[in-house]
Amino acid sequence: MKKKVFMLCLLIFALMASCASAHECSFGSWRVKRQPTCTTPGIKFKYCVSCDHWEQADIRKLPHAVDNWTITREPTCVQEGGKQGMCSTCNSLIRYRIEKIEHAWSETVVVKEPTCTSHGTGEQTCSGCGRKKTVNIPKLGHDMGETVVKKEATCKAKGSGEQTCSRCGRTAQVSIARLEHEWNEGTVTKEPQGKTKGTREVECLLCGEKRTERFFHEGTLYEDMKPCEEVIRMQEMLRDLDFYRGSIRSGTFGNQTAKAVQRFQEAHDLPGTGVADPATLDKIVSEWERATGKTHVDTLDAEEMENAPEAIPAEEG
Ligand SMILES: [Zn+2]
Ligand SMILES: [Zn+2]
Ligand SMILES: [Zn+2]
Ligand SMILES: [Zn+2]
Ligand SMILES: [Zn+2]
Repeated sequence: MKKKVFMLCLLIFALMASCASAHECSFGSWRVKRQPTCTTPGIKFKYCVSCDHWEQADIRKLPHAVDNWTITREPTCVQEGGKQGMCSTCNSLIRYRIEKIEHAWSETVVVKEPTCTSHGTGEQTCSGCGRKKTVNIPKLGHDMGETVVKKEATCKAKGSGEQTCSRCGRTAQVSIARLEHEWNEGTVTKEPQGKTKGTREVECLLCGEKRTERFFHEGTLYEDMKPCEEVIRMQEMLRDLDFYRGSIRSGTFGNQTAKAVQRFQEAHDLPGTGVADPATLDKIVSEWERATGKTHVDTLDAEEMENAPEAIPAEEG
């Protein structure tokens, strides 16, 4: 029982203590009591909004108002200078120091030449005071020459070679990247059929490796192919012909584009595969030209025309 009373007293005491220290002063903004001058700092006060606490702080002195400085001593690289002038506010003679100037270092004179692998040293002299200092000259690094091939790279394995430093003769072994296979045109084993890619056997011209490839004929546009300019051109024409309403910006051939191609094919007696084979693309172009009265310019043809050399005008005779 006694223990319980003791605990209760302890709790009440703790609560009272926390009440007393709970007030954290909340000050209003600073109020200037005395303005600063160039000889005396100013004073400012702020007061707590809910008790009688206050705080005081100095306001930094103003700089002297000197209009004309006289240099009493020019600074050098070893000694500070000085200047003086009258303050028009307090009428005193004000003396200030002028900081030392930087040493004027000369160009580096080489003391020890750097090599491929170690730093050199040099010396610089101040033209003002004659002081000297030692400076580091960075190491040069090796000057490796062209790679001399020791083992040619193939499309099966990396090659290797050697490089030699023209200064110190140090050699380093380098690896030569593996070559890419160079596939030939291949032999078609199955022609592409509608939505289904064909297959062909191709052979590497360098190593003779054989591989089976799945393919659509050159110029065919199909779902999930790499986004390209040709897809954008086709989507624009299908949009103009009212078969496509999807996005055009990215050049992605997605499901919506496939459906638009299929609708176009079905409307023009072509097999509705959704794959834009050359026959379908020709039909899209001719339908578009007929509907719009414009001429379709193939992106590739347009690039070739831009890169073609300009005709040289015949000289007048
Ligand atoms: Zn307070
Ligand atoms: Zn003054
Ligand atoms: Zn100096
Ligand atoms: Zn070297
Ligand atoms: Zn190969």
